[in-house]
Formats: sequence, structure tokens, C-alpha cells
Amino acid sequence: MYDIIIIGSGPAGLSAAITARARGKSAAVISNSATDSGLYKAPAVENYPGMPGVSGAELSRRLIAHAREMGADIITGRVTSALAASGGLSVGFGSEFETGGALILALGVVQTSVFPGEAELLGRGVSYCATCDGMLYRGKSIVVASLSDGAAEEAEYLRSIGCRVTEITTGNIEIRGNIKVEAVIADGAEIPCDGAFILRKTIAPAALLPGLETAGGFIKINADFSASVPGVFAAGDCVGGARQIAKAVGEGQLAALAAIAYIENAEHIGRKK
Ligand SMILES: Cc1cc2nc3c(=O)[nH]c(=O)nc-3n(C[C@H](O)[C@H](O)[C@H](O)COP(=O)(O)OP(=O)(O)OC[C@H]3O[C@@H](n4cnc5c(N)ncnc54)[C@H](O)[C@@H]3O)c2cc1C
Repeated sequence: MYDIIIIGSGPAGLSAAITARARGKSAAVISNSATDSGLYKAPAVENYPGMPGVSGAELSRRLIAHAREMGADIITGRVTSALAASGGLSVGFGSEFETGGALILALGVVQTSVFPGEAELLGRGVSYCATCDGMLYRGKSIVVASLSDGAAEEAEYLRSIGCRVTEITTGNIEIRGNIKVEAVIADGAEIPCDGAFILRKTIAPAALLPGLETAGGFIKINADFSASVPGVFAAGDCVGGARQIAKAVGEGQLAALAAIAYIENAEHIGRKK
């Protein structure tokens, strides 16, 4: 178990990890490849103080190296679920789970547009996680929308446990069903099925963590960067406001300090019991 788990290895998440380690807390950053971050895509950053003209890729490399040198674990993975578990917050990615005393969401801008029928049938045939839900569909027909790196492996896993998989890569999808998923329409063709696995790079924050309040797709936070779920904090582009590296770095640091105060307070309460 880590003191703090951070989802996202952009500037917000890495800044949070550096601060957590500087304060002696164990920290893991779980993220898609750094090449997926907004930071990595910036060709030349002219306004990050002290480093005029640095490329986003170079800044990303330096931040990752800094976080590693400080002792943070950087883990590559697409997080598909997070939930409050006894004594902490548990995060699922691939077939693995990690638990932290606090969780910082540093997801960047998350594509929140969903396919028609997706939100209505979520949990009733629509899933984002092969490992979590695959066994429910053994012997059944499912459509896997492979829309991210690694999705093909997840489709293969579903086949290996006995699901009848139709894999599609189109982004033009509709999911149909009344009480549960009955069919996926892909590029106008109807594919009858019992389930639809939508494997995107990112997952809308509200779908990632039950009870997380959002507004316009952004995570709602309080002045101390705490979110609506106890022990959860958020920073960077995913909370809205200016999409800027310096803002993300500053917010990541403040979210880490608030997360540290949260876990130290929780330990203090635990000791007094
Ligand atoms: C082309 C371009 C140029 C830019 N130029 C500048 C500039 O010159 N100056 C400036 O200040 N800003 C610039 N920006 C904006 C800046 O890059 C962002 O504001 C900054 O990167 C936000 O940092 P972040 O940590 O919040 O998110 P990000 O850097 O986007 O990092 C978030 C990370 O979390 C990962 N993630 C999300 N969900 C999950 C999940 N479920 N599981 C695992 N990983 C997940 C993402 O894949 C991503 O790697 C630019 C952005 C772009 C796209």
C-alpha cells in the first residue's frame, strides 16, 4: 500500500509525486504512456519559468526522471476503476490493483463525449474494464471497441476466457438495448451482442470513481483541491481553468500537500482510537 496514488504522469501528477516524496511519503504514479499527455505534445514551451523554448517531450522526460530520482514509482497502465476500500482508495489497471491512503487525480483533459446509449447502459452490458467484468461474459457475445493502445491485448484476454469477441476499431458507434445491451451499431452495421467493452485511453472522471462530482466534465474541487469523495484530490487540466503547465505543476503540489495532511490526520485519528 502506498501513502499516495496519483493517476496521470503529466506535470500535475509528477509535481504531486515529487512533493509527496519530498515530504517522505511513498507515492506511485499510474498512467498511460507519457507520450499521451498534453505536455508531451507541446512542441516548444515558451512560458514555463526558467526553461524558455524547452520541448514538451524534454520537460516530460525531466519531470519523470526527477520523480523517479525522488523515489516515486512510475507505473504504466490505463486505470479503469477507483473506489474507496477499507483503509484507503483502491485503483485498478489491467489485471492489477494498488491501494493508497489518498488518491490524486491528475488526468489531464479527458474526452468526455460518450457514444449514444453508453451512459444509459453502463453497468448493464457496457463496461470499460476487461479484467473486472470479463468473467461475466464467458460464453457470451461481446463487442470490444479497441480505441487505445493495449486494447487488442484486452480483447485477446476476453477471447482466452471464452467470450465470443467481435473487435471493432471505429469511433462511430451506437449502443442499443432496453434493460441491457442488445446490439452495437458500428458504421451503420448492427452487431447483436450481450455486452460492449469500450476501451478508450481515458475514462470520464465520473465513470472512473463512483460518487465523484463533476461539472461540465471537470472534477469539482474545494479550495484545498479535495474532491467530493473523502481522500480524493484533483489537480491540473482535469479540474478546469487555464490549460497551462505552470498551473498544473502548482496545483499538483498543493493537492499533494492536502493529501499528506489528510493521511496524517487519518493516522492521528487512528492512533487516538
Ligand atoms: C499541442 C499543445 C501545446 C501546448 N503548449 C503549451 C505551452 O506552450 N505552455 C503551457 O503552459 N501549456 C501548454 N499546453 C498545455 C499543457 O500541456 C497542459 O496544460 C498540461 O500538460 C496539463 O497537465 P496535466 O498534468 O493536468 O495533464 P496531462 O499533461 O494531459 O497529463 C495527464 C496524463 O494522465 C493520463 N491519464 C488520463 N486518464 C488516465 C487513466 N484513466 N489511466 C491512466 N492514465 C490516464 C493521460 O493519458 C496523460 O498522460 C499545450 C498543450 C498542447 C496539447
